[in-house]
Amino acid sequence: MQVNKFSEGFCFDDVLLTPQYSDIFSRKEVDTSVSTKTMGDLEIPIVSSPMDTVTESAMAASMSQHGGLGIIHRYNSIEAQSKIVKKSLSSGASIVGVAVGVSGDYIDRACSAYDSGARVICVDIAHGHHILMRNAIDELRDIFGLSVHIMAGNVATLEAFNDLSDWGADSIRVGVGGGSICSTRIQTGHGVPTLQSIINCSYSDRDALLIADGGIKNSGDIVKALAAGADLVMLGSMLAGTTESPGEIIYQNGNRCKVYRGMASKDAQIQWRGHTASIEGVSSTVPLKGHVENVISDIVTGIRSGMSYSGARTLKELVSKARFIRQTSSGSVESSTHISRV
Ligand code: IMP
Repeated sequence: MQVNKFSEGFCFDDVLLTPQYSDIFSRKEVDTSVSTKTMGDLEIPIVSSPMDTVTESAMAASMSQHGGLGIIHRYNSIEAQSKIVKKSLSSGASIVGVAVGVSGDYIDRACSAYDSGARVICVDIAHGHHILMRNAIDELRDIFGLSVHIMAGNVATLEAFNDLSDWGADSIRVGVGGGSICSTRIQTGHGVPTLQSIINCSYSDRDALLIADGGIKNSGDIVKALAAGADLVMLGSMLAGTTESPGEIIYQNGNRCKVYRGMASKDAQIQWRGHTASIEGVSSTVPLKGHVENVISDIVTGIRSGMSYSGARTLKELVSKARFIRQTSSGSVESSTHISRV
């Protein structure tokens, strides 16, 4: 049988949502909450990335206090990670997640984080459709049963989504190669535009939550991701550079910035393992944005407004009512602000 080796994929910027009839009087009528079986209800569909320039205790606490979820990165010692978990829960987080790998110390890391109060374990690898992922989920389920939510990823295809769900994942990070600091597609030629991955994985008949991850630049992209079928979005760059993201303030051309870097960047690999393997990320800086609370508030305002344009009071309604239109490259220019400067 001849296999068709080629398919096409849409990015966030290739499409727009067409406005739909709405009887929503105020954005306050719009409900952005997500019900989950194993994490309870989240008031907002936002998860912070397990990266060393995004999520430690201050970010995890703030994310939880504002109705989302923070996943503490794994580029630290087991003791340091567990300390961050405890600090997040004593600074007011009601739920916190931790990232682990699929080899080495990952079981000890998960046990220590669990003992410290973490109830979401994120099995965090770049290519999640992998036998090591299957083994890791098996082991974690054997140890923790249903007392933890297992998040797994990243994947880019429906087959992978279904497999990880069948292997026992409660939520799956969808997106390979789309992150703002990611060079996987350049280094390896592999990946799928994140929006297309979301669309493809949204056809799954499995129960796992779909977490759109990588390449989300603004609240418009978040609305597109949710409308295409994502239950939650994971954000790196949008939350980096806040008061709550780890890292020193540095000055660049007189502007206050923080480092934001890929966990597979040369800098991160040298810092955490002392040498580099395949370099699939870059290190950059982002301007200081102030408290993450304000960033989240702006994002949520954008989501509420977006839902109201689609006439949707709930995220479920958004999925059923949303209609996409493909735009040309000149459409995409028109879609960004394009006033000419005098
Ligand atoms: P962003 O929101 O576009 O900045 O993307 C953040 C996402 O990029 C994370 O949640 C990870 O899935 C992914 N990521 C983090 N570090 C790297 C890396 O070094 N290479 C590729 N992807 C990465």
